[in-house]
This record gives sequence, C-alpha cells and structure tokens, in this order.
Amino acid sequence: MKVSLVTGANRGIGLELVKRLASVSDPDGDNIIIACSRSTSKELEEVLLIPSVHHVTMDISSQESVDEAHEKISSIIGDKGINLLVNNAAILIKSDCPTSTSTEDISKNFDVNVVGTHRVTLKFAPLLFKAADQNSSADLGSKRAFCLNVSSAVGSITNTTSPWHSAYRISKAALNMLTRTTALEFIEKGVLCCSVHPGWVQTRMGGPDALISTSSCVDDLMEVIEKANKEHSGVMLRNKMEAPGTNLKFMNKIIRSYTLMASIRSNLASIKEEIGSKANCDHVRLVAVSKTKPISDIEAAYEAGQRVFGENYINEMVEKSHALVHLSEIKWHFIGNLQKKNCPKLTTCKNLSVVETVDSEKVAKALNNGWKRNGDGNKLNIFIQVNTSKEEQKSGCMPEKTVSLANFVKSECDVLNLKGVMTIGAFGYDWSQGDNPDFLELLKCHKELTEHFNEDFEISMGMSDDFGKAIEMGSTNVRVGSKIFGARN
Ligand SMILES: *Cc1c(COP(=O)(O)O)cnc(C)c1O
Repeated sequence: MKVSLVTGANRGIGLELVKRLASVSDPDGDNIIIACSRSTSKELEEVLLIPSVHHVTMDISSQESVDEAHEKISSIIGDKGINLLVNNAAILIKSDCPTSTSTEDISKNFDVNVVGTHRVTLKFAPLLFKAADQNSSADLGSKRAFCLNVSSAVGSITNTTSPWHSAYRISKAALNMLTRTTALEFIEKGVLCCSVHPGWVQTRMGGPDALISTSSCVDDLMEVIEKANKEHSGVMLRNKMEAPGTNLKFMNKIIRSYTLMASIRSNLASIKEEIGSKANCDHVRLVAVSKTKPISDIEAAYEAGQRVFGENYINEMVEKSHALVHLSEIKWHFIGNLQKKNCPKLTTCKNLSVVETVDSEKVAKALNNGWKRNGDGNKLNIFIQVNTSKEEQKSGCMPEKTVSLANFVKSECDVLNLKGVMTIGAFGYDWSQGDNPDFLELLKCHKELTEHFNEDFEISMGMSDDFGKAIEMGSTNVRVGSKIFGARN
C-alpha cells in the first residue's frame, strides 16, 4: 500500500508522473494516487479513469483551497499517511533582468513557487510523519516517506551567469533553501526531502525548443523516486541529459549530490592551501585532472572556482569541451599520449589551452597543421614531454633531444607557442630516497632550454601524491586528479 500526492497534475511533468505512478503496481496491491491541480484537463480526465487515481482540486496559492484539499484527501486515505509528496506545481512568469522586472512579477513567482510549496508541505507534513511511523522499518526514501520538490538549476546561486528570468530564478533559489531546511528537519522524523532539477523539458512551460521530452524526464523522476535515499537528503538531484554528447543513466552516473560537490570543493580548498604554503606559489598553476570523471564533477569544480582542467583521452576531452562551452572561462590541458594521427581531432577541442605532451617533430608538425585549420586564431601553447626515466615504453622525447625539438617547434611550427617542459616520471617513487630523479632530470632539461633560448619556460611535474614536493623543486604546473575528484575506477 502506498499513497502518493502530486501537485500540478493536470499537465506536463505532473500529469505524466501520475500516469507512471498508477502503472507501477505495489507488491501489496492497492496504490492511491492523489492528483491535485486547480482544474482538470482532457488528458487528466483520461487518467482519472484508472481506479487508483483520485483528483482533488487544489490551488497551492490559496490557504483555503489547500485546507479543503486536505480534508478531501483525509477522507480518501483514511488512517494512512502519505508516502510520497511531489511538490511539482509551479509557475513561470516571464521576466527580464532584475531592474526591468516588476515587483508584482517577483511576488507572483514567489507566491506560488515558494510560499505555495511551503503551504502544502506545512499542511501535509503530519501525514508524511505518519507514513514514516507506519513504515519505520523501511529505509529513508519513498518506501517510507519522501517529499520531493521539483526545482531547477536556474536557482543555483553560484552557477547563474545570465540575468534573464530573474523572477523565476529568485523563486527557485528560495525553493532550494526551503528544501535544504525542510530536509534537515524531516530527516529526524524519518522523512526524506530533496529536490530535483528535471532539466529543460518540453512542456507548456518549457516550450517546444526544450531538450528533453516529458516522458524521458519522468523516466528519471521515477528512478529518483525509487532510489533516492538518505545520502540525498537536502540535495538537488540534477539531470545532465541536456549536455550534448552524453547519454548517461540518471541515478548511476548523472546525479551528483551536493555532498559530492562539497567534497570536490573542500578537496580543492585544501590543495590550494597546500600550494599557497609554498614559497614560489604565485607562479603555480593547478590543473584539475578530470579524466574518466563525469561532466557534473567538472561543473562542481568550476563552481568552486577551478578553471583549468586536464584530460588524457582525446575523444573524451573533445566531447566534454563541447558539452561545457557555456563555462566561459574554462581552459583545457591535454596531458595524454599523443600520436600524429590523433592531432587533427585534438585541435577540434573547444577552449583548448595547452597540449602538454608533444614529444616528436612529427607530432608537433601535425598539431601545427591541425591548429591552423581548427584553431581560434591565437597560438596554441605546448609543452615538450620528456621521457625523464628513459624507459622505452614511456612516451616523451629523450632528455638530450629536448633542445633540438624545441628548435624545431620554434622554427617550423608557426602557430605553436613553446611554453615549457613536462614529465610524468616513474610511478610510486619512494621519496625517502631523496629528490625524485625524474624531476631532477626535467629540471636539467629546463635549465638547458632556458640557457639556450635565454627565455623563461614552465615546468609541469607533480600529481596527487607529490605535487607539494614538485612545487618545492620548482614545478609551475601541477596536475592533480584523484586528490580532487576521488579515485578513478
Ligand atoms: C592521470 C594523470 C594525472 C593525475 O593523476 P593523479 O594521481 O590522479 O593526481 C596527472 N598527469 C597525468 C599525465 C595523468 O595521466
């Protein structure tokens, strides 16, 4: 037995959600689905033919209407509580920048999206608490009691880069805080509360240009309803289907909770603190290595102020760079194995800033040709990768060839800008044995280059385990992955 209540059920996401909830059968048989809306629609009338679906008139902007709805709902569900409350009803009063938006429009958005959602939550909280008590052996979530607020990422404080739709944005930002505070209170009572960003959906509100269909959006919502658990309390679950080139499944890969964003944020902060504690820290660039990590992790790091990201695989980097073009200050470093044949593809990366792994004349030439065709008109920065451990299977040019390769780049590659040298070095070096010989070897190459050209060059060395030591030895570019984003699978 499960009782669900959905507001704004006469069209769009709410209507589709009611249909789906009616179609999944509870193992114990009878579900009750309460579809609330100000008025019904032809589509909703059809759904109301399903015996488990009940319509109750409710205008969330009116206290009287919510009180009346509460009475009717109580008579439908008897002594049961509500297991699932989906606060979906919302309005979008179109608005422009804040100073071209009227106070009335701010109020209208706010009244429904924030005050209305609060009104419903307040009124039905006792029934959620009741369901939590009645199902106290179930895990936190929809099997017990779950309040899901349909919000929007346009309410993100840090990620907002456009002043448009300010009235709607302001209301959704407030709704997000309503969710956070409600969640902290509800979790003590056995009720899960979180919000979801359904994406830009083809509904009357979203319009025909929207990127995902109502049906695929509700696929995701159903997965959230089924799987959200205590880890998601207070977080906004985000659907990143909108990013072109990605087609990842919602729960497993796309949802990155605020908890996870918080860990990326705090990891970045402690790394920056460590970098900041070094004497020559002003010249050090932190490259956040995001290979194999989802786009939402990169967005989280960007939101936390990180701008430079490193990737190892060309297709992955090109795809991510296109999906993230809207992050206007992002810069990509390519740090993976590079062959001549892959250079043209690499140059199609958006906001490509540095290629750190040029190790032969062939590669330099191919990159130069590719950049002439696909580049942005500026020179492409490159580092020469040096095989400092001189192991045959490793990429990188031999240390003694560095100056001649540099000469080639400078004289034959008119759209490349030689910026420095880079090494990966032996894996798992034991620092109790003294300074890493790979780093010492790179410093030697760097010195030769500097003296030969009488120019400043950068030094790219140091990763998660040794970036601090690398900086002490003179590194100006550290590439840190797992310390920021967690271990890779
Ligand atoms: C993966 C990778 C890194 C980051 O490694 P972590 O140990 O996760 O910090 C840095 N540089 C290169 C070239 C890499 O391939």
